[in-house]
Amino acid sequence: VRELREGAKGKKFWSVDVKNAKLLMPSADVFADLLKGVRVLDVVRRGKFIVFVLSNHMRLVIHLRMTGRVMWHVEKGRDKYVVVTFTFSDATKLYFSDVRKFGRVWLYTEKEFEKVTGIHRLGPEPMELSKSDFVEIFYKRKGMLKNLLLRQDLITGVGNIYADEIAFRTGLHPQARMEKLSKTQIGKLFESVQYCLGEGIRHCGVSVSDFVGTKGNLGQHQHYLQVYGRKGLPCYRCKTAIVKTVAAGRGTFYCHICQSIN
Ligand SMILES: [Zn+2]
Repeated sequence: VRELREGAKGKKFWSVDVKNAKLLMPSADVFADLLKGVRVLDVVRRGKFIVFVLSNHMRLVIHLRMTGRVMWHVEKGRDKYVVVTFTFSDATKLYFSDVRKFGRVWLYTEKEFEKVTGIHRLGPEPMELSKSDFVEIFYKRKGMLKNLLLRQDLITGVGNIYADEIAFRTGLHPQARMEKLSKTQIGKLFESVQYCLGEGIRHCGVSVSDFVGTKGNLGQHQHYLQVYGRKGLPCYRCKTAIVKTVAAGRGTFYCHICQSIN
């Protein structure tokens, strides 16, 4: 989003070329008409959604899901996966491509977009939350730590990789019961959430499978991961082999020595 803001803010849409209409809402044919001559006032992030704030009181919203990419050029061999190309009045082009086609692009009014995208159901941004508000959300809440961290309606933005990193940094097992944690432990959890997301954002994301920046640049945060993807490798803290299991229906990595179950 930082890169998109830098590259797109102030630009005017000139034309829209739709290659895969199925991923566009409400329908592909409105995009060209509604966007022509419209200026990008800002690009912001809400949870995992990219939101273009437009000069015609509309919002262009993109969710990358598994394999979506928003880039200023088409990568070699990826042309057939291009969903939509936005051309700006300065002739620069922005491509949204998606191999597995789980991504979505919405164009709605500022009144409608939150409801149709599901943004209205998102919890607060953890980077903007106070510790006491965070504790209030999770204290005595029933469920497993990882499941609750992934629930976008409680706090938004934490995905599978970050949930494992947050649990490790807090010294808690991903399957620890939240309702058994003290306020002090949840306070520590809050600090880990802010630290892990903050570092991930600072390092421009994790590029272990599909994520790349808008110029094809890889994120760098994969080099800083403590547990995710490290099955069988020694824990950086205690040298015990990292374990992989399934929690919250997702591949989950943890150290069985450093991370306690309650
Ligand atoms: Zn350890």
